[in-house]
Amino acid sequence: MQNRWDIEDWSSTDSLDQLVYQSRLLGADSALVVWGGGNTSLKITETDFRGREIQALRVKGSGSDMKTVERKHFSGVRLDDVLPLASRNSMSDDEMVAYLARTLTDPGSPRPSIETLLHAFVPFASVAHTHADAIVALTNNTRGRDAVRECFGKSALILDYIRPGFTLSKQVGEAAKANPDIRALVLMNHGFITWADTCKEAYDLHIAMVAQAEEFIASNGIGKKAFGGFSVSPLPAPERERLAATLAPVLRGAIVAAGSQDNRVRRVIMRFDDSPDILDFASSEEAFRLSQIGPATPDHLLHTKRTPLFLRDIDLVDPGTARASIREQAAAWAKEYRAYYERNHNPGEPMLDAMPRIVLLPGVGMWTLGKDAKTATVPSDIYHHSIHVMAGARALGDYRSISEKDAYDVEYWPLELYKLTLAPPEKDLARRIVLITGAAGAIGKAIALRFASEGAHVVLTDLEDPACQIAAAEITTKYGTGAAVGIGMDVSNEESVRQAFRKAIVAYGGLDILVSNAGVAHSARIDELELAAWEKSLAVNATGHFLVAREAIRLFREQGIGGNIVFNVTKNALAAGAEFGAYSAAKAAELQLGRVLAIENGAYGIRVNMLNPDAIFSAGLWSDEMKSKRAQAQGIPVENVEEFYQQRNLLKVQVKAEDVAEAALWLASDRSAKTTGCIIPVDGGVKEAFPR
Ligand code: ZN
Repeated sequence: MQNRWDIEDWSSTDSLDQLVYQSRLLGADSALVVWGGGNTSLKITETDFRGREIQALRVKGSGSDMKTVERKHFSGVRLDDVLPLASRNSMSDDEMVAYLARTLTDPGSPRPSIETLLHAFVPFASVAHTHADAIVALTNNTRGRDAVRECFGKSALILDYIRPGFTLSKQVGEAAKANPDIRALVLMNHGFITWADTCKEAYDLHIAMVAQAEEFIASNGIGKKAFGGFSVSPLPAPERERLAATLAPVLRGAIVAAGSQDNRVRRVIMRFDDSPDILDFASSEEAFRLSQIGPATPDHLLHTKRTPLFLRDIDLVDPGTARASIREQAAAWAKEYRAYYERNHNPGEPMLDAMPRIVLLPGVGMWTLGKDAKTATVPSDIYHHSIHVMAGARALGDYRSISEKDAYDVEYWPLELYKLTLAPPEKDLARRIVLITGAAGAIGKAIALRFASEGAHVVLTDLEDPACQIAAAEITTKYGTGAAVGIGMDVSNEESVRQAFRKAIVAYGGLDILVSNAGVAHSARIDELELAAWEKSLAVNATGHFLVAREAIRLFREQGIGGNIVFNVTKNALAAGAEFGAYSAAKAAELQLGRVLAIENGAYGIRVNMLNPDAIFSAGLWSDEMKSKRAQAQGIPVENVEEFYQQRNLLKVQVKAEDVAEAALWLASDRSAKTTGCIIPVDGGVKEAFPR
């Protein structure tokens, strides 16, 4: 643990800036806090809206993260209004929240932390609270208080675990007041608090004592094996990736099927992590037992659920047996979660989703789950620290956590449930993983952008890897890290298709929607058509759709939660055009393929629909050569080509890539849940090409 305080002369900085600086330093070290955990405060003199001098507590608002916290994230509460609460015997969370809202110096500030009163009641200016790995390792073991005492002697106060709220705040305040010489307090199974007159002193003490705990653990751990030997040998990297790609769809489908409720399929995005600490832990003899004991700190459990799904005795050699076993164990986890809810819930409390957030597979690694890629990252980051904490605790005794009831009370804490109700409604393609072929082209890219705007996680594939990466980067810049990945793929090459699907599965854990869009146009009269051009058109425009659809169908069936395929066909498939033989014939094959797929897969909840666009003139879609050839075929001057196609349709409109994307979105979303085997023209109305 490093002291990172680096401002030599900070006497000139404003006190709120010092609080921001202190908080960011604490937040920058993930061994102290991860993902929104911990909080800090400072008591300062401020001027209120009428120019009066007041004593205010600036405390981190709920929902901000320490490592990126800014001045505006620290809500101000009037100490004159808050401090008298110390004389009360009790106060419910709801009462406390309502009361604090009235004490804000600025009514527009974020809701102050639930630990606000804890900060207020400590009679020192600066208070810093973290969930430091080393401190929870010190408390979360069979020696418990004795270990803390042995490490810190009389320099830290100790409080037994209770859920944060009024009572804990009061206990902390009273302990601090009764021991004016002590500036640190260990919260058993929860975390650490230090206080001082200045932000720097509280920070320095915090770091020094966490470092002391680290050294204490290290000296106690000498010669001990935290997790025993390996129960399964960690597999080599390529083998782990192969297995991750093979098993993830089964796992995802099984978890979604077992954990969804009320006939609403709640899909998840999965992130695979096989970094050395995860792999070593998951493969160890003690991992299963330790993983089922409980969270390192209550704050973690909100992101990880109480226990991971630990996949035991999976036959990594025989995929058939492995799949059956994964389905069985995922169902057992959901059943046990329901039982945990039944054992602990209060009357009228609805059950949350019965899906694990962490899945461990010995020899292979870990998947973490979330409603989107970002959310799936959080449990992953946390579990690295959970492992670290368990290892530390094992240096001192056996690992311990809060009781099941205490864990339940945190998971179903009304204040946390309230936060969930504030989340905006999910978008049409939220929780969906989409693979789009030909995504570097105008239509594919328009579809990718439109789908991402509706919450989809998009796998962009095309021949040109860099073009895909650029389009994917555009999406992640706009919609957040993990919203898209670019993967090179040749739709006409069986092995290339297989590899690309494998990479997509490793990235997101499965697939929900395939938009088979890649195509090539070639214009020539049949008597002049070269065999190579004919074969190329068939390879991309017919075989390409077959190869990606076959791969998707196999994957969908393994996943077992339905699926959706959209074929981008063309108006030509129904109304052929002169000098477009290779294209029209191959596209007609694609259309029939789509219909057969719809027929064969309805029973699996897999829908297959087709789009028939016509004459899209978006940038790059038509080469100059193609334009001149079509002009020739239609007997018109080349500059009139766009106008010709516009005037040819019934609505006299220019059809754009975005129009195709809109139709694709409807077919890909649940809004068209009862539609399969259908063709939607996106052509402004071409009566020769009406589907029939
Ligand atoms: Zn805490």
